[in-house]
Amino acid sequence: MSVYIKEENNFKGVFAIKDMAKGDIVVGMTRPTSKLVRTPTRTSIQISEGHHVEDEVGACINHACEPNCEVRSFLIIALKDIEEGEEITFDYNKSEDVVSSPFECKCCGKMILGRKHE
Ligand SMILES: [Zn+2]
Repeated sequence: MSVYIKEENNFKGVFAIKDMAKGDIVVGMTRPTSKLVRTPTRTSIQISEGHHVEDEVGACINHACEPNCEVRSFLIIALKDIEEGEEITFDYNKSEDVVSSPFECKCCGKMILGRKHE
């Protein structure tokens, strides 16, 4: 695993253990730590129409409007070079049709609702 989960003030995030290059697999959301579900939950990640994955690590990855990763099927892939210690993020509005628990983005203040609401 190239990442770790860090919890601060009841707020979890996922961070890089080592430098990674653009195109690298940052997280693989596969069994036994993950499972496929049909209905989105608070912590699931949508991987295609009607398919959502519940993953221990994936669930802790925070949103960013200018992320360093993206969801590609069961994988979280680096969109740019990532340095050791950097937080791993992806754009929830790109992966989720509907975000199950909408929130205000920390970087821009916009409500993050999912791509169907864009
Ligand atoms: Zn934002």
